[in-house]
Amino acid sequence: MKHYDVIIIGGGIVGLSSAYYLGKAGKSVLVLEKGDGTNGCSFGNAGFVSPSHFVPLSSPGIISKGLKWMMSSDSPFYVKLRLDVGLMKWGWQFMNHATTKHVEDSKQLLVDLSLLSRELHSDIAKESNFPLQNKGLIMLCKEEATLAHEIELAKQSVELGMEANVYNTAELKELEPNMNIDALGGVLFKVDSFTDPVGFMKHFPSLLKQFYVTIQYQSAADDFSFKNKKIESVFVGDEQYSADNFVLATGAFAPALLKKLKLNLLVEAGKGYSVDWTNPTSTPSMSYILAEARVAVTPFADRVRLAGTMEIAGINEEVNKTRANGFLKSIQEYLPDYSFDKLKNLPVWAGLRPCSPDGLPFIGRAESYTNLIIATGHAMMGFTLGPVTGLLVKEIIEEESTSVEIDKLSANRYN
Ligand SMILES: Cc1cc2nc3c(=O)[nH]c(=O)nc-3n(C[C@H](O)[C@H](O)[C@H](O)COP(=O)(O)OP(=O)(O)OC[C@H]3O[C@@H](n4cnc5c(N)ncnc54)[C@H](O)[C@@H]3O)c2cc1C
Repeated sequence: MKHYDVIIIGGGIVGLSSAYYLGKAGKSVLVLEKGDGTNGCSFGNAGFVSPSHFVPLSSPGIISKGLKWMMSSDSPFYVKLRLDVGLMKWGWQFMNHATTKHVEDSKQLLVDLSLLSRELHSDIAKESNFPLQNKGLIMLCKEEATLAHEIELAKQSVELGMEANVYNTAELKELEPNMNIDALGGVLFKVDSFTDPVGFMKHFPSLLKQFYVTIQYQSAADDFSFKNKKIESVFVGDEQYSADNFVLATGAFAPALLKKLKLNLLVEAGKGYSVDWTNPTSTPSMSYILAEARVAVTPFADRVRLAGTMEIAGINEEVNKTRANGFLKSIQEYLPDYSFDKLKNLPVWAGLRPCSPDGLPFIGRAESYTNLIIATGHAMMGFTLGPVTGLLVKEIIEEESTSVEIDKLSANRYN
């Protein structure tokens, strides 16, 4: 049986980032990835690296808005109720955390994590020669109330040390002269960046070649052997691999695998959709979130990506055509050139965000096994927080003091 210092299960951005920092520290690492390294949540996302997103999903207003959205078959947020103890516990914790106090208690931590991660993204971009676009992100609003809310967030962002500017309709036109924009105004969060996640995820593995890191694709971890609070090995079918430490970075698929270790983790899959449009009618120079519709618009070198929806509906990657059409139809309200007629036949990608109930990731050692580190639950922020999570995983394994205080991210906080 082959032995490694660390085995990482999951080759999304969290798994690869962990491999990168552990490899750099001289560890021998095996990454087991069940797919072929070309698809998954870390590829199909909007590509934002966004420290300005310091409000967790579980925040005031989400419950009333969510209940209203749940009445509609094409809304951007949806929870499919099912008889499942895990979902009920998750829902209970989600509701408990939808408070101003929770937002206040979490925002500095989220900012610290994402600002450091943005720096690390920038270093990785330089090293892999794949660009990170530091252009900021505009929240585009059609309604007074949404714009007022974004202006309030802009104030908080400035207080947290991140510049933000408010634009009216005319100023938006000046900023984006080649696009037809129909909006009341917008807020530019200058600290945010974006990159093409497909390119990023293709370039990243080549950086790992300089270290003792092996990535093994088409290798689904399906069981473990363990003894005296220690995992000894992981099984991939008949193959068995042993390691000193194991990192679980399987995103939304974490709870199923953890059941093999008799562990429960409150992570629910939050399905989202994205569509790539090559040769669009017009290409924005900036990246946007269409605020009321909750749709992301990101201009990559060869296409524009449109991404949206959050469906809590279990492990199910099927495209719900009504909901996907709902998100595509909402875009023309803001960008008249992006009519539903032009978008409706583009292939729709679906992927599962790993959502914790409080909007904070789980990063830390599992209390029941001394050599298991859990790193998942990043929800809408996983692409942003991938690199810092990898660094923290390395620091935990190396028993170093962590770059950011991680007590609130404990993997055991709902045990
Ligand atoms: C539409 C959409 C837009 C988004 N936009 C953004 C954005 O702009 N910015 C941002 O920060 N975040 C964004 N996100 C969220 C972000 O994509 C995720 O949080 C992030 O990709 C999660 O990374 P991960 O490595 O934890 O999980 P994943 O990317 O899901 O990786 C987990 C990997 O584990 C593998 N795996 C699972 N089970 C096993 C097993 N048993 N054995 C081996 N391998 C296994 C899977 O195949 C997968 O490759 C978006 C998500 C969606 C859906």
